[in-house]
Amino acid sequence: MIVSVWILGDQLVEKHPALMYAIEAYGRDQVRVVMVRSRQHGVIRPYQRKRLVLVYSAMRHYAATLETQGIVVDFVESDSFVGGLQDHLSHCRPEKMVAMEASSYPGRLFQTKKLPELLGDSIALELVPNTQFLVGQYNPIPDPKPDKRYVMENFYRDMRRHFDVLLTAEGTPVGGGWNFDKENRQKLPKNNTPPADIFFEPDEVTRRIMAEVEAIEPAVGTAAGFGYAVTREQALQAFDHFITTRFEQFGPYEDALTKRSHSLYHSVLSPYLNIGLLEPMELVRAAEQAYRDGRAPINSVEGFIRQIIGWREFMYWQYWRQMPGMLEKNAWQATRPLPEFFWTGETDMACMNHALTRAIDTGYNHHIERLMVLSNYCMLAGIDPAVVNDWFTSMYIDAYDWVMPPNVIGMSLNADDGLTATKPYIASANYINKMGDLCKGCRFNPKQRHGEDGCPFNFLYWNFILQHEERLRKNPRLGKNVLGLRYLDEAERSAVRRQAGAYLNQL
Ligand SMILES: Cc1cc2nc3c(=O)[nH]c(=O)nc-3n(C[C@H](O)[C@H](O)[C@H](O)COP(=O)(O)OP(=O)(O)OC[C@H]3O[C@@H](n4cnc5c(N)ncnc54)[C@H](O)[C@@H]3O)c2cc1C
Ligand code: SF4
Repeated sequence: MIVSVWILGDQLVEKHPALMYAIEAYGRDQVRVVMVRSRQHGVIRPYQRKRLVLVYSAMRHYAATLETQGIVVDFVESDSFVGGLQDHLSHCRPEKMVAMEASSYPGRLFQTKKLPELLGDSIALELVPNTQFLVGQYNPIPDPKPDKRYVMENFYRDMRRHFDVLLTAEGTPVGGGWNFDKENRQKLPKNNTPPADIFFEPDEVTRRIMAEVEAIEPAVGTAAGFGYAVTREQALQAFDHFITTRFEQFGPYEDALTKRSHSLYHSVLSPYLNIGLLEPMELVRAAEQAYRDGRAPINSVEGFIRQIIGWREFMYWQYWRQMPGMLEKNAWQATRPLPEFFWTGETDMACMNHALTRAIDTGYNHHIERLMVLSNYCMLAGIDPAVVNDWFTSMYIDAYDWVMPPNVIGMSLNADDGLTATKPYIASANYINKMGDLCKGCRFNPKQRHGEDGCPFNFLYWNFILQHEERLRKNPRLGKNVLGLRYLDEAERSAVRRQAGAYLNQL
C-alpha cells in the first residue's frame, strides 16, 4: 500500500511526525513524501525575496536529506498546491495520505476541506497533531472563559511550571523572580560593539534559487547577499553562535535601538523556528544549560526563555483562540491606508528610514524596531490593522499566517479588544530617543512637539492621546499617558491637533 506524506514548506522538522508515523505503520518502502512549491503562493503578495529564498532552499535541502535516508521524495513545482498534489496523486497513486496539521488557519482549512475533496473516496486522509508548538502538543493552559483576558505573564508562568523550566527543586523560579525585565532596558553603550550576524555562504542549490527568485514579480528587496541558514545543521550553528557570542548580553540590550548593529544581541532564530529547522524546547533546555554552566546571567536566560515559551507560544495560542475573526478586528476603528514610503523606505524620519530600509533589504528587524518604531507609527497614524498585517506578512523573513495577526492586530495595534495585550504599545519620540541613537542626524527634533522641526512621533502621539483621552483614562495601564496632557496648554493642544491633521491628510 503506497502512502503519501505531504510535508509543507514550514514543517521541515527533523523527526516529522507524519513521516515517522507512516514509516512505522507501513514501512519505509511504501512511503512517498510529497513536497509542493506553488508558484501562485509565492506571488499572492509581494514577499521579501530573501524570505522566498529561505523557504525554497530549505525545502530543497530538506528533501535532499530525506533522500539520503532512503526515503522517496516527490518534489513538485507547480502553479498551485492543488495542481502539485494532483500531479503527485496521478503518478504515485497512493491509497492513503498522511500530513501534520498546518500551523495556520488557511492551511488547516485546506487540509480539512479542500484536500479531502481532492483525494476523493478512494484515498484516505489522516492528519497528525502539529508538534512545532508546545501548547498544541500538551495544551497545559486552562482555557479562560470566552472573551476573558488571560495575560501573557500568567500564561508564561503556567508554561514554566508545566514544563519545569528554570525552577528550583522547591518549584520556585530560579534567580528569585519570574521576570527580570527591569534589568533588560539598557541603551547600548558607545564602546559596546555587538558581533556581526552569522553568514552562511550560499551553495549551488541556494544560488540557483536566488537567481530564480530575483526574477519573481511582484516581490520586495533582493535575493543578493542571502546568508541565512537553510539546513538544520546550519540552524544549529546559528544557535550555537548566539549562545557563544550574544547570549550573555541578550538581556540587558533587548530593548535598545541603534544604527550601529543589525540585530544587536538578538538571536535571529525565528526564521528557523518558524519553518521547523529548530524546535522550541531544544532551545529552552540549551539556554537553561548555559545558565547552569555560568555562560549567561539570569536576566538574559530568563528573557530569552520568556520569548520562546512565553511570547511565541502565547501568540500561537491567541491566534487559534481568535481565528477566524481575528483579521477583521479593528477596536480603534483605524481606516487609513499604509503610506507609500513603507515600500521604499524613503522618508526623512531617520528612525523609520532605518527600520524600513533594513526590512526591505534583509527581511529582518529586531522586536523593538518592529514594535516601538514601525507599528507604533501605524497605531498613532491610525492605519487599518488588516493593511498593516499584510505589510508585515510581506516583508519579514519569519512571517507566517499564525504569527502575524496576534503580533500586529493583537499586541501592536490592540485591535482585538485587548485579548492579546492589555494596552497598545504607543510612545512619543522621547522613547525612541531614550533607547538609542536613531534620532542622531534626523531632520526632526525629538524634543519638539510641533512646528517645522516637530517630530511626527510627537504630534501624532499627543493627537492620539487627545483623540482617545476618555478611553485611555479608563485603562489602568494607559491612564498615566493621559496624565502627560497636563503639560500641554490649550494653545499647544490645538497646535498638535492642527499639525497631526495636516500630516495625516497628506499621507
Ligand atoms: C509588529 C510585529 C511583527 C512581528 N512579526 C513576527 C513574525 O513575522 N514572525 C515572528 O516569528 N515573530 C514576529 N514578531 C515577534 C518578534 O519581533 C520576532 O519573533 C523577533 O523579532 C525575531 O527576531 P529574533 O529571532 O532575533 O528574536 P529574539 O529577540 O532573539 O527572541 C527569541 C525568539 O523568541 C520568539 N519570539 C519572541 N517574541 C515573539 C513574538 N511576539 N511572537 C512570536 N515569537 C516571538 C521568536 O521565535 C524569536 O526567535 C513580530 C513582532 C511585532 C511587534
Ligand atoms: S526625531 Fe523623531 S522621526 Fe527623527 S529619528 Fe527621532 S523619533 Fe524618529
